[in-house]
Amino acid sequence: MWGGQVPPLFFARAGRVRMAPVRLQADHVMKNNSLIIIALATTLAGCSPQPSDAPSATSAADDGRQTVDLIVAGDHVVTMDGAGTVIEDGAVAITENLIVAVGPAAEIDADYRGTERLDGTGRIVMPGLINGHSHAAMTLLRGVADDLALMDWLNNYIFPAEVEFVDPEFVRIGTELACWEMIRGGTTTFVDMYYYPDVIAEVVDRCGMRAYVSATVIDQRSPDAEDAADSLDKAARFAERWKGANSRITPIFGPHANYTLNAEQLAATRTAANDAGVPISIHMSESPFELQYSKDTYGMTTIELMESIGFLDGPTIGAHVVWPTDQEIPILAERNVGVIHNPTSNMKIASGIAPIAAMLDAGVRVGLGTDGAASNNDLDMWEEMRLASFLQKVEQMDPEVLSAPTVLTMATSGGAEAIGLGDQVGSLEVGMKADLIQVAFDDVHHVPTYDVISHLVFVSDEQDVATVIVDGRILMRDRDMLTIDTERVAAEARALATRIQAALEARNR
Ligand SMILES: [Zn+2]
Repeated sequence: MWGGQVPPLFFARAGRVRMAPVRLQADHVMKNNSLIIIALATTLAGCSPQPSDAPSATSAADDGRQTVDLIVAGDHVVTMDGAGTVIEDGAVAITENLIVAVGPAAEIDADYRGTERLDGTGRIVMPGLINGHSHAAMTLLRGVADDLALMDWLNNYIFPAEVEFVDPEFVRIGTELACWEMIRGGTTTFVDMYYYPDVIAEVVDRCGMRAYVSATVIDQRSPDAEDAADSLDKAARFAERWKGANSRITPIFGPHANYTLNAEQLAATRTAANDAGVPISIHMSESPFELQYSKDTYGMTTIELMESIGFLDGPTIGAHVVWPTDQEIPILAERNVGVIHNPTSNMKIASGIAPIAAMLDAGVRVGLGTDGAASNNDLDMWEEMRLASFLQKVEQMDPEVLSAPTVLTMATSGGAEAIGLGDQVGSLEVGMKADLIQVAFDDVHHVPTYDVISHLVFVSDEQDVATVIVDGRILMRDRDMLTIDTERVAAEARALATRIQAALEARNR
């Protein structure tokens, strides 16, 4: 809050990792360098990495190897491809912004010479995490009001604070602070919804991340618009400005919810989004309040209402979806709605427990998100993975639901599918965008490591992320931020927070 179906990918069991066929590798026995894992790979192609598959031509070096921009190695390469391939002692070759080869490091190094090569000792390489729902700039409001019910929190604290304090400078600093936190934690793509979307997009451009940036549509006075018509008009112009302008940034429409927009306004937003050819992200069936409001106002629940007015006739990302009925879940699957599960926010505001296992069983595409930092209070996707799994297990009283491979899929390839980027990011495969991370697992809290998938979900945290690459560009190397000035952003955020706190104290006196 503010303001696909997961395939059984992995064959991992405690104590071993079995490999599925790897697209680009030879018959091969690969030994894990330290543990009891012996992975036996069979081959589909029966040959080494194929330069002919490379989407971007590379020049041949003197030794006959193809030159690529970057090679990223890892003791384990967790590809998150459809077969659940984990490559021991693997590497990924990148030219410009695309992955041109994935395979055993020995074969990648035999066929490619990287202008730069990142060593993989003690590292797991995997796709970057996808945060499917955020309000990035709300990092500046984390902790400003806690332990409150959703509508009390929104109407009496967050909305008034936003009208008073949120301006382009607030959004610039807050979004930059959020991007710092997300990059540090291994998030490479996020779906944001907040005010002053041009400012958000400019920050995303500068820091190098990939994002869907929503222009908020809401029928109340907000920091950047007067009402629904004004915000919708501004959203349309934002989409026009940014569509196709930057390959990492997709402008989208962010109608806030069905209780801050009426049915006509929701329908008009869908029409405008379809006219602009961009997706919609919306809070959907989040709280008991929303459910009751919808029934009282429309005689229907949220998703029934949306279906009845054609709101789902186009790419839709539904944040939360905590209270779908048994009749509504098939609608979500049929309409290809990407559901974003935000377990921390749902727990903190006591919104409820989303029926994630049932939605996955029904074929709904489900990803994970943090929501805004004011209701979380951080942007840690590792925590979301862990809590998504545990919350569902205890709610269902079934420890087998939302296994480690399932939630890792939700945070990567499944999340990419849910937001409509499944053909571009979320897995490490030839032709995909080079959005990937190295996770260190040589810290003592990773000892012993029997099963890397289990460790990624149940042990790793954001401090373990060592290197982050988006679109082939290194944004963080060995925990060194390369695109954001940490000291400056922290100082600016502290200074602004001091002003906010003083104003809040003056108001409450
Ligand atoms: Zn939200």
